Amino acid sequence: MSAVIYPTTNFKATEQLVIDRGEGIYVYDKDGKQYLEGMAGLWCTSLGYGNQEIIAASNEQMKKMSFTHMFGGKTHQAGIDLANRLAEMVPVENAKVFFGNSGSDANDTHIKLLRYYFNALGKPEKRKIITRERAYHGVTVAAGSLTSLPANLTHFDSPIDALGILRTDHPHYYRGANNGESEAEFVNRITNNLEQLIVREGPETIAAFIAEPITGASGVIVPPAGYYEKVQTILQRYNILFWADEVITGFGRTGNDFGCTTMNIKQPDMMTLAKQMSSAYYPISASIIRGELYEAMVELSSKVGVFGHGYTYSGHPVGCAIALKVLEIYQRDNIFKTAACTGDYLQRQLKAFSDHPLVGEVRGKGMIAALELVANKTTKAAFTDGSVGAEAVLACQHNGLIVRAVAGNSLALCPPLITTEAQVDEIMEKLGKALDSTLEHTTLSDR
Ligand code: PLP
Repeated sequence: MSAVIYPTTNFKATEQLVIDRGEGIYVYDKDGKQYLEGMAGLWCTSLGYGNQEIIAASNEQMKKMSFTHMFGGKTHQAGIDLANRLAEMVPVENAKVFFGNSGSDANDTHIKLLRYYFNALGKPEKRKIITRERAYHGVTVAAGSLTSLPANLTHFDSPIDALGILRTDHPHYYRGANNGESEAEFVNRITNNLEQLIVREGPETIAAFIAEPITGASGVIVPPAGYYEKVQTILQRYNILFWADEVITGFGRTGNDFGCTTMNIKQPDMMTLAKQMSSAYYPISASIIRGELYEAMVELSSKVGVFGHGYTYSGHPVGCAIALKVLEIYQRDNIFKTAACTGDYLQRQLKAFSDHPLVGEVRGKGMIAALELVANKTTKAAFTDGSVGAEAVLACQHNGLIVRAVAGNSLALCPPLITTEAQVDEIMEKLGKALDSTLEHTTLSDR
């Protein structure tokens, strides 16, 4: 083994796949074997690999100015242009943009902005944040506390109480509904639970509610119709801000520009963007807030002398130039619209797996989807560990397809937005073979 401490990896695992190069939606290992990147890396390489226009934009910016920062009034044109472009695109009123390097640090920034904002309003007690069970919002100490997946919390002693993190239901009907409960009843029950939590804790102590419009790492959950409408009504009733974590769902992933549009989330107060913002050609993220929140903090920062938060690489000029080029390509080449059509095709094709003996639920929207593998289709009994999902991932890999098992045994698919229908067919064929071979080695439960 090399000296690398691998992220999100079992330390006992061996180095089993060395990826060497990429082209279009394919990557190649060190022996030259081709894989269709069915996960767009980690839900991020929307425009695929080796895009010469993006590489040229990066080179140009590197030559012109490889680094300049944004502290204390210094700035640069690429950063200004990118912030203005994002502000035009997002459904956030009079948006203001703070740049970071990852989804996690952007969520940390939001936590600090929330505190700063409510301190500026003279409401320091309004600082708790409601997150949902099974949420994923990153892994830094603060953002990791908003994440609810067991592996990301166990043994890390995250400062959940100190940060005032509260958890409410995950909107997954298939797993969360009571016996005989309709989707509408499920939505009513879990949103009532949300309201009761708010009343119990005291709305004056709660700053924001954070949600991935459609989740990724928790198994690609699309909440039932009416869920977000009810959530928004409750939050407005108690003056709690809506914080949309669009790290995965931003930029055309779910069939629209943003997950908020797809899920009818109107004008969130805060939004987190990363990943597809640069098609992962550079690590860059954005914490976006409503203009009114920014205005309220101006006086306070002036009193302190500085808004004392910023990363060395906040608004890195190369990252900004790359993201600008990526956004230009999205618009010029109608990427979101085309991906919406391909996404419809993907979802229709995937439905064919509903009848597969291993598949409990097929779900998704646009170019993001998951198949939940279960031990018993009728009772929805889950497998006792994640080994079946892991085997299916390896079987896909064997067939030249990269997918990921998330939240146990859900196989996630999130191909680059430039994937064609013919390439979707290729995914289906490889995935189908992998499911069949996994089934051969799997004992289904009779209960
Ligand atoms: N938020 C969401 C919804 C994510 O899916 C992720 C990563 O997958 C993050 C935040 C964290 O982003 P990063 O890994 O860039 O820190």
